[in-house]
Amino acid sequence: MDKNADIMYRMLVQSVIDYAIYMLEPDGTVANWNAGAQRAKGYVAEEIVGKNFALFYSAEDRQQGVPQRGLEIAATKGRFETQGLRYRKDGSAFWAHVVIDAIHDDDGTLIGFAKITRDITERRAWEQEQLKAKELAEKQSAKMSALSKFLDNIIANIPSSVIVEDAITREILLVNDKALQLFSVPKSLIVHHRPHECMSAELSDYFNSLGDVALRNEGVHEREQLLLTARGERILHTKATSINGEDALQNYLMLIVEDVTDQRAADARIHHMAHHDNLTSLPNRILFRQRLSEALRSEDRRSNATLCLDLDNFKNVNDALGHQVGDELLRAVAKRLRNTLRDQDTLARIGGDEFAIVLPSVQSEAEASVVAQRLIEVIRPPVNIEGNNLSVGLSVGIVLSTPDINTPEQMLRCADMALYEAKRNGRNRFEHFTLEMDDIARSRRLIENDLRDALSNRQLKLYYQPITNGDQHTIIGYEALMRWHHPVKGVIMPNDFIHVAEETGLIHMLGAYALYEACREAASWEGQQSVSVNLSPLQFKNSSLLSVVEGALRESGLEPQRLELEITESVLLDDNLGNIRTLNSLKALGVKIALDDFGTGYSSLSYLRSFPFDKIKIDKSFINDMGDSREALAIIRAITGMSRSLDIQITAEGVENSEQFAKLQEEGCTLFQGYLFGRPQPSEQRLKKLDSDESE
Ligand code: C2E
Ligand code: CA
Ligand code: CA
Repeated sequence: MDKNADIMYRMLVQSVIDYAIYMLEPDGTVANWNAGAQRAKGYVAEEIVGKNFALFYSAEDRQQGVPQRGLEIAATKGRFETQGLRYRKDGSAFWAHVVIDAIHDDDGTLIGFAKITRDITERRAWEQEQLKAKELAEKQSAKMSALSKFLDNIIANIPSSVIVEDAITREILLVNDKALQLFSVPKSLIVHHRPHECMSAELSDYFNSLGDVALRNEGVHEREQLLLTARGERILHTKATSINGEDALQNYLMLIVEDVTDQRAADARIHHMAHHDNLTSLPNRILFRQRLSEALRSEDRRSNATLCLDLDNFKNVNDALGHQVGDELLRAVAKRLRNTLRDQDTLARIGGDEFAIVLPSVQSEAEASVVAQRLIEVIRPPVNIEGNNLSVGLSVGIVLSTPDINTPEQMLRCADMALYEAKRNGRNRFEHFTLEMDDIARSRRLIENDLRDALSNRQLKLYYQPITNGDQHTIIGYEALMRWHHPVKGVIMPNDFIHVAEETGLIHMLGAYALYEACREAASWEGQQSVSVNLSPLQFKNSSLLSVVEGALRESGLEPQRLELEITESVLLDDNLGNIRTLNSLKALGVKIALDDFGTGYSSLSYLRSFPFDKIKIDKSFINDMGDSREALAIIRAITGMSRSLDIQITAEGVENSEQFAKLQEEGCTLFQGYLFGRPQPSEQRLKKLDSDESE
């Protein structure tokens, strides 16, 4: 190296301050030291020149010969390059990039090393950061793709059909498998197509019109419609909502489509079940009420008619032949009734054997009468069920809507009153509602209220009517007949309150009272006359009847044979066996049993054989009619003839004059009761002259 070159080189080396550049002797001794080296390592030239460069290494590196190895590599290969921790004078470390170049003279003899060290701590930190950032980004993207797979999987498996459209182009961007099944078009022909390009006009119209609404308005919009899909006719329920991204280019329309066909079918079944009668499939009371109120709300100037129907004699069929036959009969009846009506008429089953009908838009009572008569006629022919020819009748109550009667409740109540009237008038007929029926019903309700207090207020009294054996002066017994001394209305007769007591259940208390009171009073009589007490058929429905009779006898001390119980045929009609058992138990107590009002109602001489009655009372209507009616006389004769052969006593009741008396004696009646012999009177007046002081 010539001198100038050497100087220039030194200046250059000295002036480079970013690098620590210095020369080493072949053994590693520092030969010179530049400003950069001083800056980088903290030593001034005087401190370091002549010292071994291993000084910059950590003690550990030194021990392992790391500095020396670098020199050896540089000596053999010409250059050694490395990175690592180096130490400054103050002991602080930095990350250094080190290049060691071997310097040879012209003969090739190693004369030393040039060492360039650069502090790259910052760069390394930056590189490390970059590396970390890159790793993070890679991790992130792996996460993202996992997330996207996860979401794809979820969307594919959502049990609803999902369709996402671009809000502006209305191209379909996403569609899941479930949706594809609806259209049966390959995914490639759906994605990036607009609905009307890839599905039927019906379906695309459905989605587009709902989508339009959802894009124009906030919130979720729904529409349900029956549509032809690849899976056949299905009811689709779609919810549409717009999804707004960061900018207008990221707005979407999301459609979630549900196939609700099965659900709606189930709903319909449940709805049908809730509104129809299981047995006949006719509308039930709930649906009937709905239809009736619809009819009443309609603008039609004409009336609506409501009919209440009740089968006559159904209970007997049911009791005698069992519920299965009863059910069949009801189904057959329902069918006949339904076939008689127009489509717009509603026939409902509203109770056991009760039906009701709405006839919308009826001109007149006459028009409704025609329908009612037709219904009665169509029920008349017997129904054959399991070999039984069954006959039931039909009673019908009718009401037409008026400005005053126009709610479902009023209509039903009025039709029911008319039905009650039809039954009272002999069944198998129809009756129109009249305002008088309402008055009667109202007064019945008043009676019902008052009757509850009548017993405790001692307003009920027994009157006694004599029964003679034909010898006008011998009274063999008395029939106890109830009177109600009402504080305001005066004396009320049994025909006006007994049925109310029966309907309200008060009959049990009232009947027990009659038994106790009649026995108590009869026990105080001087003679040995019997006392007859009327029993309502309803008293047989209460299991305590027997113990009530026993109690009345025990408490009064009356000999049982002096008590006679009067029952009517209906006791034998309802629940035959149970009632006959009760009658036998009563008879076993020693009391007598009489069959009252014989010849009316269901009368059949066969009843006389079903129980050993002590007495039969021929109904007073026959006595009343026998003067003019051959038929009445014939019936009286049949009864007396029959009872003679069965050895049963016959009482003729309602005997009002001596002609009747003479005739009845002639016909073989043995006992007599009627105004001719005496009217019912309170116990204490009963012995007064027979034909005077009538106190009714
Ligand atoms: P019933 O058992 O047939 O009683 C005979 C009815 O005929 C009585 O009417 C009596 O007053 C009336 N009568 C008697 N003789 C004559 C006559 O010569 N001519 C006419 N036209 N009528 C006569 P009443 O007292 O009004 O009783 C009516 C019905 O009320 C009774 O008919 C009976 O079924 C029922 N009843 C009366 N008291 C009781 C009772 O304590 N319990 C029950 N369950 N029913 C009773
Ligand atoms: Ca009686
Ligand atoms: Ca009677």
